[in-house]
Amino acid sequence: MWTNRLTEHPNDEMLLAYLDGEVSASRVRVIRNHLKTCWKCRSILTDLESQAEAISRLLTTRSNADIDRTASAKEKFLRWRASFEKGRRTPFKSLSPLRVSSATLIPGCP
Ligand SMILES: [Zn+2]
Repeated sequence: MWTNRLTEHPNDEMLLAYLDGEVSASRVRVIRNHLKTCWKCRSILTDLESQAEAISRLLTTRSNADIDRTASAKEKFLRWRASFEKGRRTPFKSLSPLRVSSATLIPGCP
């Protein structure tokens, strides 16, 4: 049952509902509090968000030109990242830069 504190990690279903805004305000608070202290769930949430984004992008009808532009931009980015990683091996490589953006997922933190 839901309490003020989440002692266990919220499952994917809960996180998805949280992303979709399908949970009540009190549950949002509980999940948000958990996310503040749990990087694991933050990274899961980031993954889920990018997956949901990709899906909604697929579902959105777009002109072919738009898709081409997105694809070539992504390709450019991947090429840039590949050359960057080749020239510069960092010990923090395993840290996803995406994780930083998950902080912005939490609106209106007190
Ligand atoms: Zn967690």
